[in-house]
Amino acid sequence: YWVSRDEVDKLLRAGEGWLKDHPARETISKRYLAHQRRYVSEALSRLIEEDDPNLEQREETQAADEAALERVLNLNEQRLEAVLRHVAAATPSRVVDLGCGEGKLLEKLLKIRTITAIAGMDVSPMQLERAARRLRLDRMPECDRERLTLFQGSLLYRDSRLNGYDVATLVEVIEHLDAPRLAALERVVFDCARPRHVIVTTPNAEYNALFPKMSPGAMRHKDHRFEWNRNHFQDWAEGIAARHGYSVALDAAGDSHPEYGPPTQLAVFTLEEDAA
Ligand code: SAH
Repeated sequence: YWVSRDEVDKLLRAGEGWLKDHPARETISKRYLAHQRRYVSEALSRLIEEDDPNLEQREETQAADEAALERVLNLNEQRLEAVLRHVAAATPSRVVDLGCGEGKLLEKLLKIRTITAIAGMDVSPMQLERAARRLRLDRMPECDRERLTLFQGSLLYRDSRLNGYDVATLVEVIEHLDAPRLAALERVVFDCARPRHVIVTTPNAEYNALFPKMSPGAMRHKDHRFEWNRNHFQDWAEGIAARHGYSVALDAAGDSHPEYGPPTQLAVFTLEEDAA
């Protein structure tokens, strides 16, 4: 993939008004510019030029961004590992990742050979395309290709394609839905599809106090409709479990803070007739 300097201009044009202040501006720039260091640093300096004409300060800012970013990347990884541990504990043969995004979890699930059917569902065709590219669907060995299905669908509508799974995962998905729509998701997943286990992760809003650049009440991502504190998540999870015949166990991902708790909250729902 060929990146020329025009791409820097294109990136800055497309990012006008938001990229400069985006916490992940560096990752976004790196990805867009295919990790070509010279262009990435040009883009980043041009992005923050107006803010910090002072070079030293600019470099400090970049270093701080990088550190913040690394913490984020690390959290991503820790979250996926936590989810995988719970998936593995359920010894499933069929797993569906709901709101699979670009397929990072799918990639890891494929490595668990005892899982014979893996599905990724997302409402966004663009995300599904990214997943297909990331997983190199077109070049995937037949034995893996047979195990994997990607399909477009919405968690707000009952869908028979979601039936028959041992585990369903919802990793950082619920907070992307308007709160009133969670009732629809609840019906679709816990009433219609009824997998043996459902694993849900979502940010812990309390932990946001530890992100230096976040103002109080702000959310981690512009597309988040809500971020819950631990009590709220627990109430939601216990309500669902009680209404649909599941038990629920709460867990977390990432390093926990003594006062604010973990960065990511996690719930594992288990169908009660199965737990018996
Ligand atoms: N699970 C992935 C992606 C999280 S981002 C990860 O952890 O990386 C949230 C994802 O949910 C996005 O890919 C978005 O397209 C998807 N999504 C949002 N609303 C949805 C809906 N109603 N049905 C299915 N997917 C949805």
